[in-house]
Amino acid sequence: MVRSGQTGLRQDTQGAPEHGESKSKQKPVANRLYQTSTMAALLDAVYDGETTLDELLQHGNFGLGTFNALDGEMIVTDGVARQFRAEGVAAEVPGSLKTPFACVTYFEPEQTVSIDEPLDKAEFEALVDRLVGNPNLFAALRFTGLCEKVDTRTVFCQCHPYPPMLEVVKKQPTLTLNAVQGTMIGFRTPAYMQGINVAGYHVHFLTEDQKRGGHVTEYKVTRGTLEVATISDVDIRLPRTQQFAQANLSPDHLHQAIQEAEGG
Ligand SMILES: [Zn+2]
Repeated sequence: MVRSGQTGLRQDTQGAPEHGESKSKQKPVANRLYQTSTMAALLDAVYDGETTLDELLQHGNFGLGTFNALDGEMIVTDGVARQFRAEGVAAEVPGSLKTPFACVTYFEPEQTVSIDEPLDKAEFEALVDRLVGNPNLFAALRFTGLCEKVDTRTVFCQCHPYPPMLEVVKKQPTLTLNAVQGTMIGFRTPAYMQGINVAGYHVHFLTEDQKRGGHVTEYKVTRGTLEVATISDVDIRLPRTQQFAQANLSPDHLHQAIQEAEGG
């Protein structure tokens, strides 16, 4: 009985369709957002995920996130994941490292504009909003150029029992980069997705020399190139961990808490 059903069973369970697809020469789907876990889970101290960097990078070559135990900020540029730890120093990471929250895509810009006058954060975001148009879709953006100022922060490795993120961010190391050349990448999430992701803008920065950066809280761009793409295709992988099962993902004041944790 076991044998008679084995062939079919094996095809289903051993076919490993995900691996098969990712290893094939098929061109990846552009501008599809692949996300692990949710922002609300991170806020509730679900700091350990199941997704390795190797797996994550099969779904995108551009993005951001954090690492298990909240051990630094992540930026993914040109298919390379980097980790910013204390002092915002960047290092390449092994593919075996895991992430509790990350967003990646194969970014293919749909619009490219030159910026040749200084824009503060609000002006820059308004420009992206104008380019993207539809406020109810996600967008990915990349700015490459000179910034008058970039304020970044880096979360640092936490020990069990994990404290809530709002406590962690109060002690976060910050770094201000002045007159710095680099790349700022990230996503704009529609307001109705608050908690699933970070509603509004979430961007990370990497200096041109690829040595420093982090999660961006404030900035002013001087000149450079802005590229944007609209995202309507979203793939969210929810953890099957005990931590996630026990998390409170609809807390009171979710919006305020995320703004405090991810904002300035
Ligand atoms: Zn961030």
